[in-house]
Amino acid sequence: MKLRSWLALRSPEYLFNKSRTLLKRYGISEKKAVVRTTAFIEYLAERGGAATLFAPGTVLERHPKVIARFLEAGVEIGMHGWEHVDLRNYPVDEARAQLFKATQAFNDRGMVVHGFRCPYLGHSDALIASLPPEWIQYSSNSAVWWNVVSDSDLGKGNAIYDATLRFYAPKASHTHVSIPWQRANLIEIPVSLPDDMLLFDGIFRDVDAMTEAWRGIMAQTYRRGELFNLIFHPELADREQVPFGLLLEEGRHLNPPVWCTRLCDVSEWWQEKRRFKALVESTSSGEAGEQLRISFEACSQHATLLFRGLSVPGDEPWDGEYRRLRIGESGEAVVNVPAEPRPFVGVSAGVPAATRTVLRELGYIMETEPENVEKCGVIINEQTLKEHSHEVALVEHIEATTAPLVRFWPWPDGTRSALCFSGDLDALSLTDYAARLWSR
Ligand SMILES: [Zn+2]
Repeated sequence: MKLRSWLALRSPEYLFNKSRTLLKRYGISEKKAVVRTTAFIEYLAERGGAATLFAPGTVLERHPKVIARFLEAGVEIGMHGWEHVDLRNYPVDEARAQLFKATQAFNDRGMVVHGFRCPYLGHSDALIASLPPEWIQYSSNSAVWWNVVSDSDLGKGNAIYDATLRFYAPKASHTHVSIPWQRANLIEIPVSLPDDMLLFDGIFRDVDAMTEAWRGIMAQTYRRGELFNLIFHPELADREQVPFGLLLEEGRHLNPPVWCTRLCDVSEWWQEKRRFKALVESTSSGEAGEQLRISFEACSQHATLLFRGLSVPGDEPWDGEYRRLRIGESGEAVVNVPAEPRPFVGVSAGVPAATRTVLRELGYIMETEPENVEKCGVIINEQTLKEHSHEVALVEHIEATTAPLVRFWPWPDGTRSALCFSGDLDALSLTDYAARLWSR
């Protein structure tokens, strides 16, 4: 993006506020930012947490030793484009070339890049679709907005709020689930908004209020069993340590706990989870009459396999109506359950592929054979879709039924939801910021 168009998108108020805060947060050299970020990484590590930091290729070029040190400390370093520019303003080929160039810069230094986030989340479906398989595992560029800030507080929002929201273009949490999904050749891991810039620079300027907003997202993602991918900027890290520590503490003490992890771990888990299989066959076993024999194959010990309204040998309480059966080292388990109602989500022919994909990603085991769909305790058909017109309503409908159900939970090792801290390491010094403006 050229400087003029960049400026046109931001009001004078935005630019004035931004310049003032930058001068406070950065020094001419990297020292100020390094001390702050290192303290932050140590603080998280002491509390069993770790972050993902996305760095532009140019920042890596200028500070390779610093980035290597962050990586050694257990932080995941992701790629944040080559220069810090909005890739929506470039032809797809050019934008892709920038991403390739940045990835190569990391690889040349022996650093493996698992995923990327575009500056300003500036991407397009065409750009993602153009990325080849096995180049990188995940993208974290889509966003979900959580309603944790009241309208009156939003009304106080300044120009930063307006500009940032235009860039992020989030989906609403009341209609969309916040879980990873397959997007062309990549796994898309959505971010959760509002982020620290919106809350701190844009709305509150108050750490307690920011903490409350994040605790609100944590509570909602926990209840729904989804991902809270908290997006932050390490330049605010000294103010964020305490809220992050609090979220980690809460997550650990909940039962079932929250999986506090890095985006590369989420991406790897999402691929592992996809290999899990449930094979179903009918059997007749004397007095028990017709039964279903469910063989779980290719699972890992991390699988969270759940049963509702059914008791199977070896299961244990998990949460609410759900009981969990642990999978042993073999990665296999076999259970016998009554044949009717079939404990799966029956999906009729008219249900669109996109809906099926969401249900599958959430871990539901779907029955699609027409003669068996009607035998399921939970049925999704065109009528159900009319009554529950979006993802969240549909999931709430399934969870509100009382029919027996066997499913995989989206998260590993019996955790109920996931929490990631993913930050944009846009710059380490004022020089980096100046270079950003120059590049436009
Ligand atoms: Zn950025």
